[in-house]
Amino acid sequence: MRRVKILYISGPTRSGSTLLARLLNEYPGIASVGEVVSLDVALQSCRLQARARGDGDSIFVPNDAAEDAARRFSALCGCMLPLQDCPIWSQVEASVFGDPPNYSSWNWDTRRPSLRRLLFNGSRGWLERDARSLSEVAEAVYRELARLTRARVIVDDSKTPLYGYFLSNQPWADVVPVRLVRDPRGMAASWSRAKLDAGVEGGEFSTHAVSFSSAHWLKRVMLADRLFRESVVVRYEDLAAAPMQTARRLLDAAGFEAESPERCPAGTVRFGTNHILASNPDKFERGEVDIRPPSDWSQVLGPGARGVVTAATFPLLRRYGYAPWTEVRAYTALR
Ligand SMILES: [Zn+2]
Repeated sequence: MRRVKILYISGPTRSGSTLLARLLNEYPGIASVGEVVSLDVALQSCRLQARARGDGDSIFVPNDAAEDAARRFSALCGCMLPLQDCPIWSQVEASVFGDPPNYSSWNWDTRRPSLRRLLFNGSRGWLERDARSLSEVAEAVYRELARLTRARVIVDDSKTPLYGYFLSNQPWADVVPVRLVRDPRGMAASWSRAKLDAGVEGGEFSTHAVSFSSAHWLKRVMLADRLFRESVVVRYEDLAAAPMQTARRLLDAAGFEAESPERCPAGTVRFGTNHILASNPDKFERGEVDIRPPSDWSQVLGPGARGVVTAATFPLLRRYGYAPWTEVRAYTALR
């Protein structure tokens, strides 16, 4: 049977992965499906929210992901429907998890190896023993996604490098990893501000302190460098400055042939519908949308916060072309 072609976006959260996924979704034959790693949590979040409202059939067998975690994930698909009403995700749920759904076969958090175990013991034992049952469920999920979307390429922006590594070791998957990076000060500024999200209980996307975001950036970028050393790198700043050109160059570098979508005025992109799971609430934007340049982090972060993030991430800043003390305004290269 033919392997499922997956373009896997790896990198820190709040690095523009939803923008990249939406852009790629506009190319014929490519379907962006969001953060598949959180499939169980998002589906349970949707059912829990329906139960809280007193509507919908909310009988299901939960897995060991806590209800609190489930409530942090969007219950809405990118098509603006609750996941259980979306024509794609409702069918994936029914065919993979059954009716009523039983999510115990998923839950990445309990199946992934600790970083220490991976570094000291390697990945072979984990892939052959612990991840084997997840492999069967994951194959069913991605094959169903390929069948329902009729896409030649599935774009998964789960971002966690370990999950991408798990996928790239599956015999049924043909994975092209992409390393997405953003200036860690820009990411910290983005994470310091609350953002409305219609699909999340409480209505807001989470915020974090700069110490958390620095550690998160370092861990994700270092791990992706180690696991996907030869893969294409996309910087968020390049993507925001020239969205369609950057997406085109990425597809060319990845060897995917796909006709470019209709041209739009400079600085704008036309977005149709999508079936992006979880991810940033920008996934709900439709029509001709202005692509905003990256916000000026030097105006958002105070000197102390800037110093913390710069010092913590210093060794890797230069590797990705970010200046240690100032904001770079002209980005050019896709490496
Ligand atoms: Zn949908």
